[in-house]
Amino acid sequence: MIMATKLKLEVVTPHGSVLSDEVEEVSAQGSEGDFGVFPGHVPFITTLKVGMLSYRNGNDTKYIFVNSGYAEVSPDKVIVLADSAEKSEDIDVERAKAAMQRAEERLKQAEKIDFARATAALERATIRIQLAGKR
Ligand code: ATP
Repeated sequence: MIMATKLKLEVVTPHGSVLSDEVEEVSAQGSEGDFGVFPGHVPFITTLKVGMLSYRNGNDTKYIFVNSGYAEVSPDKVIVLADSAEKSEDIDVERAKAAMQRAEERLKQAEKIDFARATAALERATIRIQLAGKR
């Protein structure tokens, strides 16, 4: 059997499609650990952490911020469904810094806040800022 050398990578959110491309390798952060996918991978489904997804063609690696969701892997395709996602070059750093500041302010108010929500917002902003540096 001839193995395909490329994978189709689709990253989709409720706001629309973020990426549809042919790639040689995909790396992502599953809830149970980081994983890498080459063409021909055995099929599996995993939920994703709030974190980074990267994909490579030759020496060119690109990065996408992924806000939870899940990945469906098959031998010739990776489909990612996320609550939100942005290519690293599309991340608005000022917006992420503002979100980070809001979350930090809320977390100082100890009692009256939804701790999980503020922590999640802080996590999204922190990772967006990290990824915006990887262009
Ligand atoms: P904010 O408080 O700034 O809205 P958030 O983490 O609550 O941030 P999300 O709910 O994850 O935002 O995303 C809502 C929409 O805004 C999505 O389409 C997402 O891609 C986009 N988005 C959020 N933050 C940024 C950012 N810093 N740069 C680019 N797009 C962003």
